[in-house]
Amino acid sequence: MSGNDPQGAPAPERCEVAIVGGGILGLAVARELIARNPASSVCLLEREAALAAHQTGHSSGVIHSGLYYQPGSLKARLCVQGARELYEYCAEREIPHERCGKVIIATRPSELPRLRELERRGRANGVPGLRPLDSAGIEAIEPHARGIAGLLSHATGIVDFPSVARAYAHDLIDAGGTLALGCEVQRVALARRSLRLFHSQGSTEAGHAIFCAGAWADRLAVAAGGEADPRIVPFRGAYLRLVPERRHLVRSLIYPVPDPSLPFLGVHLSRHIDGEVLIGPTALMVGARDAYSLRRLRRRDLLETLTWPGTWRMLAGRWSTGVTELRHAVLRSTLVSAAARYVPELDTADVRPSFSGIRAQALGRDGRLLDDFLVSATERALHLRNAPSPAATASLSIARHVVDVAQRAFDREP
Ligand SMILES: Cc1cc2nc3c(=O)[nH]c(=O)nc-3n(C[C@H](O)[C@H](O)[C@H](O)COP(=O)(O)OP(=O)(O)OC[C@H]3O[C@@H](n4cnc5c(N)ncnc54)[C@H](O)[C@@H]3O)c2cc1C
Repeated sequence: MSGNDPQGAPAPERCEVAIVGGGILGLAVARELIARNPASSVCLLEREAALAAHQTGHSSGVIHSGLYYQPGSLKARLCVQGARELYEYCAEREIPHERCGKVIIATRPSELPRLRELERRGRANGVPGLRPLDSAGIEAIEPHARGIAGLLSHATGIVDFPSVARAYAHDLIDAGGTLALGCEVQRVALARRSLRLFHSQGSTEAGHAIFCAGAWADRLAVAAGGEADPRIVPFRGAYLRLVPERRHLVRSLIYPVPDPSLPFLGVHLSRHIDGEVLIGPTALMVGARDAYSLRRLRRRDLLETLTWPGTWRMLAGRWSTGVTELRHAVLRSTLVSAAARYVPELDTADVRPSFSGIRAQALGRDGRLLDDFLVSATERALHLRNAPSPAATASLSIARHVVDVAQRAFDREP
């Protein structure tokens, strides 16, 4: 059932709560809301004609275990809980998934302290199934990989997130909610006891709204009366795929030790649930929030990035990372070399271009790339303003958190 495309319906003129955004988070929030309040009218408005058209449909497809994140952060707590719940949900709904495990590999002595820190964080976060590895241990798990030390995360897995999103949409519809596709929210107006959402099908008057708009989150928050800070800056992540004859080089998931100053996990090799093996993603700041092609530029998106003081503050300290990412983006051989640090047999002839995804990364006015999930409020509304990876993994627990916050905030308003 999760594979069928759920049917959309016209946007209602009125509802108690409107959710904006039909990615995995909007759908998870809508599903949680109606499960808690079966008598309430909940509608979800999605701009595109299909669900999961942006980040949710363009990811690595990895169920993260929660080992990377700062203990005590929302990411740490919600990822560990969310991964556990997602495995249960997939099993119950018969969504193909695999708890295949992953290895994080250090290839240089300078990476060893960071590898040990990852293990410490993982244990502090309550991640199950962590095991330090020596080089023989790495090769026992990934015979074609090489490194001086590693960390096995047994609880990491893979799934097709669009299938999960579609299953959430079915839950919403089965519980009596409305799903309106092809319905772009363009303006938000505050009335005395409601919000009016003006969209491409007309307008919907909602008692409250929860915006889960991914790369457009800041724009809608500002439209609803929120702060401009933080702004969303799009980072394009492009992937290569291994040709079928070379897929045996990667059994499951091979990751580098990440740079702790960046919110991205670095170029990895990941098996998808459909059997493809991907290499990537890159992390290149781009000129459109939907820059699936490198050539796509949108004037408004570009201006919003270039006029944001945080952009220049961030770039000032990161020129060399930017140059490396640019090389990865334009020269296939440099991306393959980055992956060949972990799987030395890899060669440029083994890969073909694959898809790309655009990360919606919140960037503060002070130049800080926001690491943790962020929910903020405006009158009668909540906004998910930063929901990068592992938000797809954590979708069920993020939804519970958002609905808890919403109930407290909305109960205070008439
Ligand atoms: C390259 C890449 C790799 C990733 N890998 C992983 C991974 O392996 N594991 C993991 O857990 N996470 C991963 N992530 C992160 C994960 O994909 C996202 O955190 C998650 O999908 C966010 O979901 P979302 O619903 O907030 O956003 P989205 O899926 O982007 O959905 C937002 C939706 O809002 C809609 N919308 C926007 N504006 C409007 C409007 N005005 N009116 C109506 N609708 C609107 C959009 O059309 C879109 O459908 C990855 C992300 C990327 C980009």
